[in-house]
Amino acid sequence: MRSGDAGAIVDPGDAAPVIAHLEREGITPCAILATHHHGDHVGGIPALLARWSVPVFGPAREKIPGRTQALSGGDRIVVPGIDATFDVIDVPGHTAGHIALFGEYGGGPVLFCGDTLFAGGCGRLFEGTPEQMWRSLSALAALPPETRVYCGHEYTVANLRFALAVEPDSSELKTRVERERAKRDRDEPTVPSTMGIERATNPFLRAHLPAVRAAAAAHAGHSLADDIASFAALREWKNRF
Ligand SMILES: [Zn+2]
Repeated sequence: MRSGDAGAIVDPGDAAPVIAHLEREGITPCAILATHHHGDHVGGIPALLARWSVPVFGPAREKIPGRTQALSGGDRIVVPGIDATFDVIDVPGHTAGHIALFGEYGGGPVLFCGDTLFAGGCGRLFEGTPEQMWRSLSALAALPPETRVYCGHEYTVANLRFALAVEPDSSELKTRVERERAKRDRDEPTVPSTMGIERATNPFLRAHLPAVRAAAAAHAGHSLADDIASFAALREWKNRF
């Protein structure tokens, strides 16, 4: 995120490409924000701090290198330098203390959700239960449909291949698959997407819908009692897809 010459860095897994971008664009860092403790999201922080002394915002319940501001769900923060305000949302599941940041930037709502929600998919459950992750994803799904969703990885095309296995007849999904594949063919990112697109095509936000639950049950080979069981079966299916 950028305002004039100042820039806030989100989830710097690696310092070198970040520094190259800052130098190329003439940006001076004003803050670092981290969503969770995994190395591919925080690994670049020490090298960035060695060069620039800036505040580091990160989840209170996780170990974040150089953290100066410990965040928990319900907190509201103002990121210095770019003067952007964010609400902190607790989203346990991928990791136990994972947070997401929701606020206004660039003329509209934005969400930084790390490895909780992906474009077309969701993160693996390393430290949490299906129930926690389903609740976390449901909280994110309730954000405005125009929210631009910045996730942690470019996994979209592979995620959508799985989505098509779950909902093979969805015309909205088929259209999205073509659109995202074309972007990758042009070497463009598929991120950000929007919450509206995710709600319409991401199976992990759709586990409560009868057609999605039926597909998950058919694959699991037994009936699924509720939304959480449906979500858990989808996640298991994707783990082996
Ligand atoms: Zn992660």
